[in-house]
Amino acid sequence: MPNAARLCRLVLVALLTLWLASPPLARFAEVAPADAALEAALRQHIGYLASPELAGRLPGAPGAEKAAQYIAARFQRAGLRPLGEQGYRQPFPFIANVRLGRRNELAAAIGATRLTATPDADFRPLAFTADGAAEGEAVFAGYGITAAKDAAYDDYAGLDVKGRIVVTLPYSPAGSNPHTKFGPFLSLRYKATTARNQGAAALVVIAEDDDFSRSQIARLRYDDAFGDAGFPCAVVSRAFAAKLLGTPVADVEKAIAASGQPASRPLPSARLRLRTEVVKERRTAHNIIGWLEGSDPKLREEIIVVGAHYDHLGRGGPNSLAPREGDVHPGADDNASGVAGLIELAQLFGRQAVRPKRSLLFIAFSAEEKGLIGSAYFVDHPTTRGKRIVAMVNLDMIGRLRDNRLAVQGVGTSSIWRPLLTEANQRHGFDLSLSDSGFGPSDHASFYKRNIPVLFFLTGSHPDYHRPSDTADKINYAGERRILGLVGDALRAAANLPTPPDFVAPKGSDPAERARGGFRVSLGTIPDYAAEIAGVKLSGVREGSPAAKAGLQAEDVIVGLAGRDIKSVYDYTYALQALEPEQEVEVVVLRGGQRLTFKLVTARR
Ligand SMILES: [Zn+2]
Repeated sequence: MPNAARLCRLVLVALLTLWLASPPLARFAEVAPADAALEAALRQHIGYLASPELAGRLPGAPGAEKAAQYIAARFQRAGLRPLGEQGYRQPFPFIANVRLGRRNELAAAIGATRLTATPDADFRPLAFTADGAAEGEAVFAGYGITAAKDAAYDDYAGLDVKGRIVVTLPYSPAGSNPHTKFGPFLSLRYKATTARNQGAAALVVIAEDDDFSRSQIARLRYDDAFGDAGFPCAVVSRAFAAKLLGTPVADVEKAIAASGQPASRPLPSARLRLRTEVVKERRTAHNIIGWLEGSDPKLREEIIVVGAHYDHLGRGGPNSLAPREGDVHPGADDNASGVAGLIELAQLFGRQAVRPKRSLLFIAFSAEEKGLIGSAYFVDHPTTRGKRIVAMVNLDMIGRLRDNRLAVQGVGTSSIWRPLLTEANQRHGFDLSLSDSGFGPSDHASFYKRNIPVLFFLTGSHPDYHRPSDTADKINYAGERRILGLVGDALRAAANLPTPPDFVAPKGSDPAERARGGFRVSLGTIPDYAAEIAGVKLSGVREGSPAAKAGLQAEDVIVGLAGRDIKSVYDYTYALQALEPEQEVEVVVLRGGQRLTFKLVTARR
């Protein structure tokens, strides 16, 4: 560690020590209500939020609306000022559901035979299909994988699919196992992007199960990413596909598995007509936002956000781990526990005679479970009227304290966090497990992407996670009460620091770029996953990165990379996968209505 940084840390530690040694009246714990009263309040909040009446708090549904009202009323009682767009509320749109439209057709002419597939029985559009129609000769493209470099396997080698309708098998020659060399090429999004890049007019993927009604890939469920495939896509039953191929599907799969070689071929006697229409059901969800003004006339212009998401899974859906659909997922730990903590912190700070110097903004986010949509919307549309957000503290699943172990993530996002937490914890005695990364599957990630230091408190996963058994009776209320003591102390310390927490940039780039595997390069772009737009909107670019050097900036929408059209973040991911380090490529972006082309040199990851 450089000496300057070390000195800086020593000073911070000294300041913290001073603060902790300050008269007890000004501190958090001493003005907190009796332990039993706080635990009773937590019990009441979690009991209500996780009750059957709220039916799992699905965004856009009545249960989430009741939760929103409950939280807003408590914010008001705590003395928080409304800082949403409609009182405490910040409405935002999201896609709650997808369903079949009226115009879905798949017809085949095989020689002289005419076949019409029945929607829902023989075929179903993919949720991310583009609405529209295509007609053309069918062509069988194996597993739809083109990975000569990564897996020495290319279903498209020597195959002309231009203007044709590509028919592929599901998954890969190694099945659906993600831990083989074919891991990055299993997804339907990959197969769609690849077929479109090859010039196909449409994509038809063969179901993985002989019983179409049991096919996982044929289930119409939205992957929560905006941006459609750019052409019609559907899943077809194995029985129907066998007629197109002129042979049982299993025989083709066995042949490829046995030889390790693609078995792609044109199907000149088969013509297909595909029309797809999927209706996206848009709904409105609400973030609930309350404001506690700081006591220092200057520092009150700086804000620390305290957040917890209040939505959950309703009765199941794609993120549920329950064996069957339909039971209420109470989400007591995930995340009624965090919301209860948020409400009680608001009450405790709101009651204090001596307020923290910086302002605190309490936000209960919605649509977190659908992909951090509420928090992403907030950072895109802040209601803070020019005040600067200097830190974000996230509470998500803090109700299952076990063996005194409390996890805190994001500790590496500011040099102040580690000493601050260590000092504060001396009074609380947790067995802290600290990790540096500011990325992670909860709302703090939306802030971290905007270069805001974050802390994420959690007691960790458990067997009831995302299941109907995540109930209020399993919450460790005494444990949560103690956690709030630590969070409150850390918050007050951060809010009273003479200078705001510094931001430490991450090493490496967005793990979303990395997570899908197979990347050799980094561009340093920070995609805005919540933008509903064709292309990839950037929420920023990393300093000194290839993207920054090329001149890309926040708000740019990438629509082309290395000669490929980019219509969704998936297209972008697959285009990145194909790049080599130190390769010069063209990036096409939309900026202020103009289409601009930049040259960019990729960096080695
Ligand atoms: Zn959660």
